[in-house]
Amino acid sequence: MHHFTYRSGTLHAEDVSLETIAAEVGTPVYVYSAATITRHYEAFAGAMAGLDAHIFYAMKANPNLAVLKLLGGLGAGADTVSEGEIRKAMAAGIPTSRIVFSGVGKTEDELAFAVDAGIYQINVETAGELEALARVTAAKGRRQSVVFRINPDVGAGGHAKITTGSSDNKFGVSIEEAERLYAVAAGLPGVAVEGLAVHIGSQIRALHDLGAAFGRMRALTLRLREQGHRVSRLDLGGGLGIPYEMSEAVVHGADLIHSYAALVRNTFHGLDVELGFEPGRIIVGNAGLLLSRVIHLNKRAQKTFVVVDAAMNDLVRPAMYDAFHDIWTVRQAESDATRHDYDVVGPICETSDTFAEARRLPDLAPGDLVAFMTAGAYGAAMSSTYNSRRLVPEVLVKGGAYAVVRPRQSWEDLIGEDRIPDWV
Ligand SMILES: *Cc1c(COP(=O)(O)O)cnc(C)c1O
Repeated sequence: MHHFTYRSGTLHAEDVSLETIAAEVGTPVYVYSAATITRHYEAFAGAMAGLDAHIFYAMKANPNLAVLKLLGGLGAGADTVSEGEIRKAMAAGIPTSRIVFSGVGKTEDELAFAVDAGIYQINVETAGELEALARVTAAKGRRQSVVFRINPDVGAGGHAKITTGSSDNKFGVSIEEAERLYAVAAGLPGVAVEGLAVHIGSQIRALHDLGAAFGRMRALTLRLREQGHRVSRLDLGGGLGIPYEMSEAVVHGADLIHSYAALVRNTFHGLDVELGFEPGRIIVGNAGLLLSRVIHLNKRAQKTFVVVDAAMNDLVRPAMYDAFHDIWTVRQAESDATRHDYDVVGPICETSDTFAEARRLPDLAPGDLVAFMTAGAYGAAMSSTYNSRRLVPEVLVKGGAYAVVRPRQSWEDLIGEDRIPDWV
């Protein structure tokens, strides 16, 4: 469910016309709906009501400060994967007592920063990281709460590139290694092991793999307790998928959250543990769209290319993950309007700069506005300046108000960061 709807024939974000935003901010531009973000967060939190649940929004999905502030205000913590993300979460006012730090390659400097900041939990992913953290805490005379991220050897997700839980993937330690590290950590005064974490992939829409991974978490928890270890926290990661094709919306969304919550309740029933969640995509995914304008139509004998002013540097998911994004015209087409099979492409000098092939769309002409739907997660977050295109701006809408929450990059910033040594 989201708040992008047609009103009097024009697509709106909540109460704001996308034509207004395009005219005032320019295109391409990301547009987010605060009501949609709020609704998803509250649906997730509501589904976990009664559990000892801590929700850490996986901010890599959309790290805009305004989005973080909005979610922080609703009670969310942050799941971070770099020092930069910890700094951004703190800058958005998320208390460090609600920040967790994940990732396979944390440097000793990053660990030191996290320990100094006093964050809630570090999700340790390798034996080497545990040693590094022990050095850092010993040098500072501090104690840091950690959980071990296990690799349950259950991969899942919407694409091989976003599967993380298979033993072929780089993430986490094996179940046997977790038992060994628990014993090692018992001798490390600066490290307080609180429990386990797991995160097996992204865009997961069938729950059986999550169920298998959670079952292994439960079994390992019981085994560790038998060995005399304390397991007081289980961080269950993120990964819930969302419908990218609107026709599927009927079967997903809130239903998936409720089945997931039921799975969690059944699996961890009676364990008396605090549960952590790291949802990203499901909170912000369909709360955002990328608004773009048609530049040219390139008609060939066999097909017509629609060239838009957004490109793979602004939204890389189709090029990188073969991802599907629904494309809506901002002017609502009549239901009996003629439709064409268009290839929708960006201006970048790569064939992979293709958003859609043979997509059935109403008549398009230069100047028309189109929206790439469900672009709130891993959209702006993954944007770049490839082809020396300025970083795409972002707008947050709330009711009838909107604000530019990241302006379009200036030409000075695009060019002025480079340095020319005097020997060139
Ligand atoms: C990316 C990531 C998430 C969020 O994944 P979503 O699919 O966006 O929910 C959560 N936890 C970790 C460790 C991640 O790397």
